[in-house]
Amino acid sequence: MSALIYDIKRFTVHDGPGIRTTVFFKGCPLNCLWCHNPESRNPEPEKSIKENRVGEKQFVTEEIIGKEYSVEQLIAEIEKDQIFFEESGGGVTFSGGEPLLQMDFLVEVLKVFKEKGIHTAVDTCGFAEEESFRKILNLPDIFLFDLKIINSEKHIEFTGVSNDVILSNLKILSENKSKIFIRFPVIPGFNDDETNVNDMIAFLKTINFEELNLLKYHNLAKTKCQRLGKKYEMPDIPNTKKEDLFELKRSFETAGIQVKIV
Ligand code: SF4
Repeated sequence: MSALIYDIKRFTVHDGPGIRTTVFFKGCPLNCLWCHNPESRNPEPEKSIKENRVGEKQFVTEEIIGKEYSVEQLIAEIEKDQIFFEESGGGVTFSGGEPLLQMDFLVEVLKVFKEKGIHTAVDTCGFAEEESFRKILNLPDIFLFDLKIINSEKHIEFTGVSNDVILSNLKILSENKSKIFIRFPVIPGFNDDETNVNDMIAFLKTINFEELNLLKYHNLAKTKCQRLGKKYEMPDIPNTKKEDLFELKRSFETAGIQVKIV
C-alpha cells in the first residue's frame, strides 16, 4: 500500500500541540480560490518549473511534486523525529490536500502510530464520505477541522463544493466527543464579514470542540501557481498580521468561544 505525498515538514509548531512533523497528502476535493497550497490539489504527480536569473543567465529547474511512500517508508521518516515529539509533547500531523482522500493508507498509519504511542493529528477540510469519518473517529488524538464559510451558496462559490457534508461530518465528530480544533482561515473580504462570523458563532455553539484557531492569510500561492502553470485567480490582497485579527478574536471571545491566532 502506498500514498502520494508532496511534502514532509519537520519542526512545525502550528499544526497541533508541541513540535510536530507534518505530512502533506496530495489531492484535495475542494478548489478554494485562496488555496495557499495549489500544489496539493491535483491527486497526481505534477511538474513545477522554477526560473531563476543570475545576471544575464537564466536557470530553469524542474521538480516533480508528489512522491509515493509505502507505510513502512513513511513511518521510518516520522520516527526520525520521535525525540522531539517526546520532549515537546508533539507528534505527527496528516495534512494536505485532504488526507482522507487516501483513506486506507491513512487508517493504516494512524493505527501504527497509535500502537507506538506517537501523538497524531488529522488536518481535514471535512469533505469526505460519512463512512470515512466513522472509520477514523477514534484513531487520531486530535482533529484539525477547517471551517471556512457557513452559507452553502457562498461556500460553493469560493471552494467549488457545498458545505452540507462538511458540517454534517463535523457534527459526527462532535457527537463522538473527538478532540477537535476548528481552523478558520480568515480571508479578508471573503469570509470575515459580520454575517459569516455570526453564522460561525451560531454553528459553533451547537458543537463540542476544544478551541477555535484563526489562521492568518498569506499570498505565497501566486508564485507556486506560476511554477505549476496554473492560473492564479485570487485578487491581490496583502498578507494578514496577527494584530489584524484581534478584533475578530474579540468577537468570538465575547460569544464565549476560546480562540487562538496561529
Ligand atoms: S481545502 Fe485547503 S488544500 Fe484544499 S483547496 Fe482548499 S485551501 Fe487548498
